[in-house]
Amino acid sequence: MVIESIWQDFLSLVAQEAGSRVVETWLKAIVPVEWDARRAIMFVRAPNSFVQDWVISHYTQLFDKHLARLLGVSSITVTFVATNAVQVVGESLNLPGQVVVDLAEKSSATTCIAARREQTAITPSTRVAGVNGLYLFDTFVVGPSNQLSCAAARAVTEKPGLIYNPLFIYGGPGLGKTHLLHAIGNEIKRQHRRLDVLYQTADRFVNEFIQMIRCDRVHAFRQKYCRIDVLLIDDIQFIANKDQTQEAFFHIFNALYDASKQIVFSSDVYPGALNGIADRLKSRLEWGLVTDISHPTLEEKIAIIRRKMTAMSASLDDEVVYELARQASTSIRELEGSLVRLLAFASLTDHPVGVDLVQRVLARPAVPATVKRASYDDVLHAVSKHCGYSVAQLRSRSRNHDLVRARQLAMFLMKRLTGQSLRDVGEFLRRDHTAVLHALEKVDHLLKADESFAALARTIESAVQSK
Ligand code: ADP
Ligand code: MG
Repeated sequence: MVIESIWQDFLSLVAQEAGSRVVETWLKAIVPVEWDARRAIMFVRAPNSFVQDWVISHYTQLFDKHLARLLGVSSITVTFVATNAVQVVGESLNLPGQVVVDLAEKSSATTCIAARREQTAITPSTRVAGVNGLYLFDTFVVGPSNQLSCAAARAVTEKPGLIYNPLFIYGGPGLGKTHLLHAIGNEIKRQHRRLDVLYQTADRFVNEFIQMIRCDRVHAFRQKYCRIDVLLIDDIQFIANKDQTQEAFFHIFNALYDASKQIVFSSDVYPGALNGIADRLKSRLEWGLVTDISHPTLEEKIAIIRRKMTAMSASLDDEVVYELARQASTSIRELEGSLVRLLAFASLTDHPVGVDLVQRVLARPAVPATVKRASYDDVLHAVSKHCGYSVAQLRSRSRNHDLVRARQLAMFLMKRLTGQSLRDVGEFLRRDHTAVLHALEKVDHLLKADESFAALARTIESAVQSK
């Protein structure tokens, strides 16, 4: 049996089920080593313990589900064999800035940190400057849009300066970069109390530098930054076109980096796309690991709204949460703003929070006026025709995999094209509203992950609309 080809089949199945991002980010980093058919053990190797732990805690059920079937056994044990080299995730993922550290180098780096800690012990200075204690990993909702950035941020807190250095997180506005930087600061403060942590936005860094030039204190400025153990620089793009500040920063970067001190940057674009930053500094920004945060999926937006509601001790109907997530912009900052406005509006007017209120607060019509509202029957018939199941099958209880998909697509399109409530759509298909909600989340995910499914959905939608 050729395990490589089985492994490839396994990866394709996982990509279909969990999305190609999971495969590209995590599972491609795992290498199958040996298949022990007698004991049903698959030996695999991960590039480092961080990837290994992540895969074990998140994807074990995928091994059970697909790999066992492909290998023709009822259940399987996956055992990770030790690696003799420690390398970052980027190596196997072809991310920019890949680094391979062998164990000898790693131990010297460890020594370097230890020596530094001794120094700090002589002159104790437990300082965490600029870090907002409210932004924690605990309050950060993790999903496909941010999981790599969040995992890398967590890894940095475990071994500051040793794994991903620098860590560069980029993404659009309001997607959680600042939150993650503060979370790193707070977590390092908790785990490594002796380390000096400084959070600084790049524009404050620029202003501080200019001030220091005026007072002729550039040397003191550099010294201040070179003493830091963990430097968190937010919105590094603001250093663009500030040549003198960049020059100073370049030296600070080198000093910190050479001493294995952790540096984390955030930016609105990836390093290569930063304009007005000197090439030598730009290249350093991508020396470590570069990760992005993309727009949240519908499921993530729903999870974030639920988390924020719990924090505010507020409660809203699933239906309202869904509408808010669906209609709000992709920025989580704006999503939070809309939620707060919605709750405030409701409490001020004593108006029960319904879907109509979401629309008023967001000031957007639910279904564009030009779109003719379809009927449930129109949708069901179109789905029936294009997916090859009868309307009765779509309304049945059968759990056949493809039929379930078709039914979920029907729910999605019924909700979208008729503008009716979750409960109403559910009743028509003899389901409760949570089943509809689940279907909407699933379809939303598939539309992004599976192009042929998305094409099918578009075809059916236009068929319904052209009726
Ligand atoms: P950015 O720095 O990328 O512009 P922020 O970190 O300031 O975005 O995030 C904007 C708001 O959204 C903050 O209040 C933050 O707490 C919240 N937020 C962003 N991402 C998440 C998330 N994944 N889970 C919970 N809250 C989040
Ligand atoms: Mg920010």
